[in-house]
Amino acid sequence: MEIISNIKEIQTRCLNARAVGQIIAFVPTMGFLHEGHLSLLREGRKRGDLLVLSIFVNPTQFGQGEDLDAYPRDFERDERLARECGVDLIFYPDAESIYPPGYATYVSVEGPLTTSLEGACRPTHFRGVTTVVTKLLTIVMPHVALFGRKDFQQLAVIRRMTKDLNLPGEIVGLPIVREDDGLAMSSRNVYLSDDGRNDSLALVETLRQAAEMAQDGELASEKILSSARQRLNAGGTLSIDYVKLCNAHTLEEVATIDHNTVMLLAVKVGKTRLIDNGPLLG
Ligand code: AMP
Repeated sequence: MEIISNIKEIQTRCLNARAVGQIIAFVPTMGFLHEGHLSLLREGRKRGDLLVLSIFVNPTQFGQGEDLDAYPRDFERDERLARECGVDLIFYPDAESIYPPGYATYVSVEGPLTTSLEGACRPTHFRGVTTVVTKLLTIVMPHVALFGRKDFQQLAVIRRMTKDLNLPGEIVGLPIVREDDGLAMSSRNVYLSDDGRNDSLALVETLRQAAEMAQDGELASEKILSSARQRLNAGGTLSIDYVKLCNAHTLEEVATIDHNTVMLLAVKVGKTRLIDNGPLLG
C-alpha cells in the first residue's frame, strides 16, 4: 500500500493506472475510519483494480465554532484498517497543498438542495464539501467514487454537482452501517459520554417508530413528525436541529408520504451533533 501526500504525484500515479486500463475506485473520507468507511472500501475493492482512499479533514466544510480542531484523527490506525481492506493507495494531503496561499476557487451547488436541512444549519458546509470533492475527483479521476447514505443530503448534492459539471465517473451510494443497537456509525460518536451514547439511540428509535407508523397506514407527514418530535424530546436531553420528511430525490418536504419519502434528522446530544436518516416505506 502506498501513501502519497503530493498532489502531482498521485495525479500521475492515477493517470498511469488509467493509461494501462486499470479501473480506479475511490473512497473520500475524513479518516478515523469505522465500519461505515470500511463498507465503502470493501465495495470499492470489488469494483476497482486500483483502490484509492483519501484522508483529509477538510477545513472549508467546517463552520465557525464547529469541531475542526477537535475532529478525531488516528492515521496509524487508519493505515492498518486500510491495508486490511486491500487499499492500494492512500491520498493524505495537508491543508496547505489543497488550499495553498492565494486559493480562490469554490464550487457551489445552488438552491434548496444545499440551503435546506444541513445547509440551513450549516450555511457554508456544502460549499466546502463540493469544492473539496471536485478537487479530489479531478486529482484522482476515478471511474467510480463511493459514498455513504449516512450523509444522505451530501450524496444528493454530489450527484447533482457531478451531473451538472459533467464530471466523468459513477457515483455510488451505499447503505448506512450501524452499531448493534442501531446507532449510525460516525467518527463523531467518540465524543459521546456514556449518557449521551444512550440518549443518541433516540435517533434510530425515532426512525423505527416513523417507519412503523407509515407501515400501519399513517401517511400524513404532520402526524408522523409530531410523534417523532415527541420521541426525540422524551428524554429532555436532546436538542433538535431538524426532523423532516422529504422526497428522496429532490429533498423537498412532502405533506403526504409515499415510497420515495425519507425521514432526515439532526440533533445535538450535548455538544455532539448527530445526523441520521431512513426510508419510511422502503
Ligand atoms: P466522513 O469521513 O464522515 O466524511 O465520511 C466519509 C464517507 O463515509 C462518506 O461518504 C460518508 O457518508 C460515509 N459514511 C460515514 N459514516 C457511515 C456509515 N455509518 N455508514 C455508511 N457510510 C458512512
